[in-house]
Amino acid sequence: MNASTSKRITLIGAGLAGALLATLLARRGWVVDVYEKRGDPRLKGYQGGRSINLALAERGRHALRLAGADEAVMAQAVMMRGRMVHFLDGRCDLQRYGRDDSEVIWSVHRGELNLILLQIAQEAGANLHFHRGLAEVDFDARIARFADDRDGSLHEAAFDSLVGADGAGSALRAAMSRHADLGERTEFLGHSYKELEIPPTPDGGFSIEPNALHIWPRGRYMCIALPNDERTFTVTLFLPNEGEPSFASVRDGAQARALFERDFADALPLIPNLEQDFERNPAGLLATLYLDRWYLDERAVLLGDAAHAMVPFHGQGMNCAFEDCVALAQHLERGDDRAAAFAAFQAQRLPNARAIQAMALENYLEMRDRVDDDDYLLQRALERELAERHPDRFMPRYAMVTFHRMPYATAFERGQAQRRLLVDLTRGHDRLDSLDWNAVDAEVRARLSPLPADD
Ligand code: FAD
Repeated sequence: MNASTSKRITLIGAGLAGALLATLLARRGWVVDVYEKRGDPRLKGYQGGRSINLALAERGRHALRLAGADEAVMAQAVMMRGRMVHFLDGRCDLQRYGRDDSEVIWSVHRGELNLILLQIAQEAGANLHFHRGLAEVDFDARIARFADDRDGSLHEAAFDSLVGADGAGSALRAAMSRHADLGERTEFLGHSYKELEIPPTPDGGFSIEPNALHIWPRGRYMCIALPNDERTFTVTLFLPNEGEPSFASVRDGAQARALFERDFADALPLIPNLEQDFERNPAGLLATLYLDRWYLDERAVLLGDAAHAMVPFHGQGMNCAFEDCVALAQHLERGDDRAAAFAAFQAQRLPNARAIQAMALENYLEMRDRVDDDDYLLQRALERELAERHPDRFMPRYAMVTFHRMPYATAFERGQAQRRLLVDLTRGHDRLDSLDWNAVDAEVRARLSPLPADD
């Protein structure tokens, strides 16, 4: 049996995407070997990973359902109904994400999620190999070499095809680049992030509204906080790398306290270990990774962050990586020539990855600078009204991305058309009740085609 028709496959990385893909394939009878650089987190408790919790949305949940993991994951998820905006003067405003509690997102603990996915991958029959960091690949002989981080020993494994689920710093991508030009470029945002923690109240409760994603928008920078089921919140401070304030000007715990006293005063009493958290936790860089090519004939393919890392402001990196897994498993199952399956996977997913990468960048500006502007609030109000009046044609972009599974590229294009419409319809108005609704309805019908259904 040759590589194209065998059902053997080797995955690099047992993070979120690697563990999910292993499950999807093993459940369909594939012989799956997964090599992971770190030790088995089920033995020693989860170690590391920068973002402690993640927003899970419908795309991700759909993939989890297909893998039989949704129930276990949802058992520890916390519902987030909307953005709780914390204004500088201490006022708060909950901006709902969707129409009701059927349109929400979920905060999940990254470590717990990884543990669940590893467990179901193993139960599905995948062979998990820990302490095996991909070090080099001989693509001609189809031999991969792995290093054991405990003693530096090298181990070899033959492969038919490699799948790179080894994250933004992918070693497989680096090995593929030595063979072919992948058209790789990384654009740094010029902003970084640092994590802090809000502990539970003394009686063990949440110290702020649990069912919301909290945002403190401050123009060029912001803080957010997501709830954890153990009643803590993970706070993420996003600051530019240069300027005032920035990670260059706020360097130690005392300077962080001064920044919070001035700009995040209502958050300050909630973070008792601000100084220690700030000094102990490293600042993470934020960047977008673009590749023109994700595969090397039938021998290797990349997905998830290894193929298209993005900035985290739409909360879609993992959701997109999970969608990649479903798509790749489907292409592999069609039984085509494996190189053709990888080509079809790239053709389907690359334009969509580009679209969500662009929307994630745009969302940063919206979150830190727009959520408290008057024109933005008027457009949001009209958006809600149009979604009510024309549910078959108008859907807020956030809803298309978050609560539905239409291709990201479709959501991006429709979102641009809708934004132009909102700007045009609200021009010269500061209240919705001065609009001519007959003209508004006609304009919607003329400019927006009916929405596609989720497949
Ligand atoms: P990873 O999760 O990074 O997994 C890669 C795995 O490969 C790891 O287990 C690693 O140890 C292993 N590995 C690495 N190198 C090797 C090697 N050489 N050999 C073997 N194994 C290796 N996404 C969302 O959907 N919602 C959010 O709210 C969200 N928030 C985020 C907040 C922040 C601050 C950041 C930085 C990201 C956020 N993301 C979010 C994005 C999300 O974390 C990633 O998109 C997701 O983790 C990608 O999954 P992955 O499996 O491709 O990579």
